[in-house]
Amino acid sequence: MDRGIYLDNAATTPVRQEVQDTFDEVLSGTFGNASSIHTFGQDAKRVLEESRETVASRIGAQPDEVIFTSGGTESDNLAVRGAAYVLKDRGRHVITTAIEHPAVLNCCGALEREGFDVTYLPVDLECRVHPDWVLDAIRPDTILITVMFANNETGSVQPIEEIGGIARQKGVIFHTDAVQAVGKVPVDVDDLGVDLLSISAHKIYGPKGIGGLYVRKGTTLDPLVYGGHHEKNLRPGTENVPGIAAFARAIELATVELASVKEHLELLKERLANGIQERIDMVHRNGSRDSCLPNILNMSFSGVDGEALLLNLDLMGIAVSTGSACSSGATEPSHVLLAMGIEPLLAQASLRFSFGRENTEEEIDRVIEVLPDIVKRLRGLGDSRAVR
Ligand SMILES: *Cc1c(COP(=O)(O)O)cnc(C)c1O
Repeated sequence: MDRGIYLDNAATTPVRQEVQDTFDEVLSGTFGNASSIHTFGQDAKRVLEESRETVASRIGAQPDEVIFTSGGTESDNLAVRGAAYVLKDRGRHVITTAIEHPAVLNCCGALEREGFDVTYLPVDLECRVHPDWVLDAIRPDTILITVMFANNETGSVQPIEEIGGIARQKGVIFHTDAVQAVGKVPVDVDDLGVDLLSISAHKIYGPKGIGGLYVRKGTTLDPLVYGGHHEKNLRPGTENVPGIAAFARAIELATVELASVKEHLELLKERLANGIQERIDMVHRNGSRDSCLPNILNMSFSGVDGEALLLNLDLMGIAVSTGSACSSGATEPSHVLLAMGIEPLLAQASLRFSFGRENTEEEIDRVIEVLPDIVKRLRGLGDSRAVR
């Protein structure tokens, strides 16, 4: 079956065969409850702990510093709310950025409604936060800094190591959402100086609904859910052992292959960016060119509605994304592009192309072939809201 051209790998990735094999094997062969004392349980426990060792080793952590969760969203919640609640008597100020994933942004919104004070740092035109802005925002009552590693819409990579140094020097807990970064750029928790780091399996060719949170030794969190003693009391519930084993396999493969895949992804990205810029006028490339993920390209097409562009590409079998969020029926421009200072109309004229290991140069050439006509046609419709 022709599945079309999938250029939305920042939204999710197809599960790779090796990962599916691991999942199937554990799902059928190791069904025991990892908390049971008998052999069935101990078999599951062994898979669980081996998986934990694998995940830990791929990010430079110790096995007992990895907590398995249901994915990036839960990891972000556990980190941000878990740290804020446990430290609330020391202070109620949290520092984050205006470009975070909703999983962090909406946690911060919830904290604000509960009496916390949140500073949302701006970003520059390249979608980057400056470390000195973080330093300037720190107050005596600051208890947590949460800055994403790489932005999911523009691919811009943040100066995490510098911010980690500042956080450490000031004695403030530092969380980073590394969901888009893991498997794309090297991630080592000690080099970065982070205390908490979120990962999700389905962005690295693993299954959905499984992920992890790195919790540095000595960092305490309040759990969000109460139950048994699983995952060091931080995340109770019988463990999803097949998902965890598949996650471990996925992160192992993604990090081992990182360098070779990076080259392929960058080639595809530049091929598409150049092809678009050669054939279509009034296009803008958004985000940082120097400090960015190899697999995300964000471009604005003046005078075109991004959603219309997406739907027309879909008709041609090409899957991409707009950064805009759909809230109460109306699409709103991306909060990330707005934070970069891009005008709302131009922000709504944007597309995110995100590449994966299975994409080919032929697929990119197909996009370059069909996109100019679609843009021309949509511009010809003379949308009165269009910017030119
Ligand atoms: C996808 C994503 C998440 C959410 O992860 P889920 O596993 O889908 O809950 C969080 N942060 C970023 C940056 C993401 O790209």
